[in-house]
Amino acid sequence: MQQLYMDHSATTPVAPEVIALMTEVMKYGWGNPSSQHFYGNEARQILNRARKQTAELIGANDNEITFTSGGTEADNLAIIGTALALQSRGRHLIMSAIEHHAVLHAFHYLEKNGFEVTVLPVDAFAQVNVEQLKQAIRKDTILISVMHANNEVGSLQPLAEIGEIARGAGIVFHSDAVQSVGRMPVNVRDLKVDLLSLSAHKFYGPKGIGALYVRKGMNLTPLMLGGGQEKGMRSGTENLPGIAGLGLAAQMAREEMPVRLERMQQLAEYLILRIVKEIPRSYITGHPRQRIPGHASFVFGSVDGTALLTFLDEKGIAASGAAACSHDSFQASHVLKAMGMKEELAHSALRLSLGKDNTREEVDHLMEILPGIIEQQRLLWSLQ
Ligand code: PLP
Repeated sequence: MQQLYMDHSATTPVAPEVIALMTEVMKYGWGNPSSQHFYGNEARQILNRARKQTAELIGANDNEITFTSGGTEADNLAIIGTALALQSRGRHLIMSAIEHHAVLHAFHYLEKNGFEVTVLPVDAFAQVNVEQLKQAIRKDTILISVMHANNEVGSLQPLAEIGEIARGAGIVFHSDAVQSVGRMPVNVRDLKVDLLSLSAHKFYGPKGIGALYVRKGMNLTPLMLGGGQEKGMRSGTENLPGIAGLGLAAQMAREEMPVRLERMQQLAEYLILRIVKEIPRSYITGHPRQRIPGHASFVFGSVDGTALLTFLDEKGIAASGAAACSHDSFQASHVLKAMGMKEELAHSALRLSLGKDNTREEVDHLMEILPGIIEQQRLLWSLQ
């Protein structure tokens, strides 16, 4: 049976070049970067090279990159670290309603601990309104967090506009860019962010490694205390194989970006067009144009999304519902709900996220299978 992987927003396969480098680092570059002997020197060189490669992918300086254990930790460090560092200035925080749980739960934690949180609503395209953001700002606002690209529906947010407002008001601006970094051009200066989270496994790097961009001069309280690695921002002996893998994946993403982008954009366009044309009552979710390349997400009337995924899986097609990163898949997605979608429709979500190696033939294969499954599902639905 042909197997199709169309779930690149959940994770990506690790590039063979990255595996080769990580293996080499484990074999030969196993020194501790804090050691003063030549093993340490070699490890430090690996660390420095990866920091440069990561910084270059997002237009940052090397010393503005803090390695973390992934996107979740980067989000937690940015949000809780800022709140702790600036709490004497104010205790009001702003986030959007469609953030990933790594952000949502960090805010909820702070809310339980004496901070006030304003949740910005989104429109039917899952985008925040800049005017509403302006109105939400108070004298005691210390942090705004709005994600770059949504993991469920792919919509992009107007980060540069938000960044401009935040900077004008002297408020720290964080963005969870885990879904966009490595998949489309991201430049921290252009986007006017102070803090930005990224994760290697979304762009053909390994899992369990990511980074937080911390603009020079930002004041953060570290969450991990110990030996003072990462300039005291994140203690613990560095995950050198992971960091090297992140660095190389970042370099490859940067070098191959134009080719990957064009391929994924064209393929997603083709897929979206075919689904909307060939499957009645199929609706694209998220913004029709301002979305991450390769991301195609839909809802279908009168279909049980969980059953749909099971049938696709049986046919060798790996996709996901709203998001794969949450373990409680029975609840309707908070993103679709925030977009104003009815519960029943929200339960019929399908996310097909394409990667650099998907082909037109694979999309054709999917389209030989998907319409039939949906038709069958609807028939069952009508009999209930
Ligand atoms: N933020 C977003 C938008 C994500 O999509 C994910 C993972 O899917 C994360 C954060 C968490 O990243 P990690 O899996 O590296 O912890």
